[in-house]
Amino acid sequence: MANHTATASVLELIRKADPEIGNLIDAEAKRQATTIELIASENHVSGAVMHAMGTCLTNKYAEGYPGARYYGGCLHHDAIETIARERACRLFGATFANVQPHSGAQANQAMMMALLEPGDTFASLVLKDGGHLSHGMKINFSGRFFKPVHYPLHYDKGHAEFERIDYDAARKACLEAKPKIILCGYSAYPRVIDFAKFRAIADECGALLVADIAHIAGLVAAGVHPSPFPHAHVATTTTHKTLRGPRGGLILTNNEDLAKKIDKALFPGAQGGPLMHVIAAKAVAFGEALSPSFKAYGAKVIANAKTLAASLASHGYRCTTGGTDNHLMLVDLRAKDANLTGADAEAWLEAAGIVCNKNGIPDDPRPPRVTSGVRLGTPAITTRGLGEADVKQVGAWIDRVLSAGLKGDAERETAAVRGEVAALCAKFPLPA
Ligand SMILES: *Cc1c(COP(=O)(O)O)cnc(C)c1O
Repeated sequence: MANHTATASVLELIRKADPEIGNLIDAEAKRQATTIELIASENHVSGAVMHAMGTCLTNKYAEGYPGARYYGGCLHHDAIETIARERACRLFGATFANVQPHSGAQANQAMMMALLEPGDTFASLVLKDGGHLSHGMKINFSGRFFKPVHYPLHYDKGHAEFERIDYDAARKACLEAKPKIILCGYSAYPRVIDFAKFRAIADECGALLVADIAHIAGLVAAGVHPSPFPHAHVATTTTHKTLRGPRGGLILTNNEDLAKKIDKALFPGAQGGPLMHVIAAKAVAFGEALSPSFKAYGAKVIANAKTLAASLASHGYRCTTGGTDNHLMLVDLRAKDANLTGADAEAWLEAAGIVCNKNGIPDDPRPPRVTSGVRLGTPAITTRGLGEADVKQVGAWIDRVLSAGLKGDAERETAAVRGEVAALCAKFPLPA
C-alpha cells in the first residue's frame, strides 16, 4: 500500500522486530488512508517530514543550544537546529526562535516561566469559550501556579458580534485585573484575531502581549491570517496543526531580552534534552511552508472551510458566529435537532469514516463529555487535495449520518456512507 505512515520497507522491519506494534502501525496507516480527517488540529505531513523523525538523530543528547551544548558530538545537531531557527524566523517575521519545545503546552509553560513569577496574573479566554487548557485551566500548570482572569465573548444573541471576542469587555477586564501578560490565540475560535487591538489593550494596562497561534500558524505562514508580529511581544505555537510539521512547539519573539529569558526557561527550566529528530523534521516542514505552494495551501484550507460551513448551513446546522474566517468551524447541532449531542455526532460520524471531535459551544448547557457541538476543520482534507465539490459531498454525508442517527437508524446509513467515504479517500492518497 502506497500511503503508509512508514514506507513498506520500514514497516516490514518494525514488524519483524515487533509484530504486535508493527501491525498496529499498519492498521493505523490504513485507518488514516481510508477515513476523512476533520479534526481541526490534525494534518497529514509530507514523507520528508515523516521520515526525518525516524532517523539516527533520536540517538543524540544535545542539551543546550547551538554552539553551547552540554555534550560532545553535536556538530550536525548545531547545524540542523540553526537552520530550523532561521527558517522559523523567516516564516513568521521574527528575529528569535526557540525550536525545542516538545509540544505547544510546553512552549506555553516555558513562556509563562519566562514572563511571570508564581502567583502572577495573566488574562486569557477560558477553555469552554475556545481557549486552551494551558491558558489557565485549574489543574493545568498555568492555573495552579499562575492566576488567570478570563475575558469574555459577546454572549448576547442579538449582538452583531455574537460569539466573537468582546474587545471592549476584554479591555475593561484587563484594566481592572492588571495582568502581566495578555494571552490571545485559541483552540476553537473560527474568526480572525485582531492582534493590533489586543496590543493596544496590553499597552494601556502595561502588559506583554502573547499570541498563541497553535491553530492558525500555518495560515499565518501562508499569509492568509494576519501575523501576530509586530503586535505581539511573544508568539507560541505548535508545529503540527495547520503548519503541517511534526508534533512539537515553537516560541518566537523580536525582543532579545525576552528571547534570553525564554531560552533559559525552556532549557534547563522546563525541559531536558531536545528531540533533535523532531527538530530536523520541523526544519523540513518550515522549508515546505516557505515555498509558494504553501500559500496556495493556506488559501485553499480557508476556502474549503467556508464551503463546508455553507454546506452544513444549507442542511440546517448553525456554525457559531455564523461561519468561519479560518480553518475551523464550531457546529451548533441543536439548530438541527434539540436532542442531537456532540458525543452522539462524533460516534456516528466515526462509524461512517468521518473523524471529528465533540466540542462545547460558547454558553453550552451540556457537560464537556456530551456537548452540543462538533468542531470541524479542513487542514487535513485540503492536504489530501479535496476541492469544493468533494467538501460539499462531505457536508451532505455528515447530514445523512446525523439525520439517520436521530431516527435511530444510524447503523445502516453509516455503513453505506463508510463505503462511499473509502471510495473518495482512494482518489486522494495521503502524502507518501
Ligand atoms: C493545541 C494547542 C496547544 C497545545 O498543543 P500540544 O502540542 O497539544 O501541547 C496550545 N495552545 C493552543 C491554543 C492549542 O490549540
